[in-house]
Amino acid sequence: MTGTAEASLALALHLRGGRVTPQRRAIARLIDEAQMHVTAEEIYSQVSERLPGVSIPTVYATLELLEELGHVARVPTSSGPALFDTRTDEHHHMICRACGHVADLMASVDRERLVSAAGAHGFHAEQVQLVVQGLCDECAAAPVS
Ligand SMILES: [Zn+2]
Ligand SMILES: [Zn+2]
Repeated sequence: MTGTAEASLALALHLRGGRVTPQRRAIARLIDEAQMHVTAEEIYSQVSERLPGVSIPTVYATLELLEELGHVARVPTSSGPALFDTRTDEHHHMICRACGHVADLMASVDRERLVSAAGAHGFHAEQVQLVVQGLCDECAAAPVS
């Protein structure tokens, strides 16, 4: 991906006749600055601090456009707020169910076998992203309250 999320968002909105609002720019700028994993709600509260008047639907719509443009990838979580990743190559995640901590997981999976098993069900696989759920080391060590 070349260029910043902010620049390509502005270009895409311009080409589609959408408005390049300060709120949308701020969301894209946060994605440019974000370290890997960020939730839609974190983006919302950070943008709200700088620019009042931003709405959750605007945050989602802008993140979806940035996803389409290849600047963020959505992490397939089963619960909690929508999670986005500034790392966009196909990789896996470990997610703590207690504190929500997200970490990349580099491990080899038999991608071809998963894709062909999906194909045997008539499913056209596009990407394989695994989420390993459980407890992070800290939460596993914490006393149950
Ligand atoms: Zn944890
Ligand atoms: Zn990741």
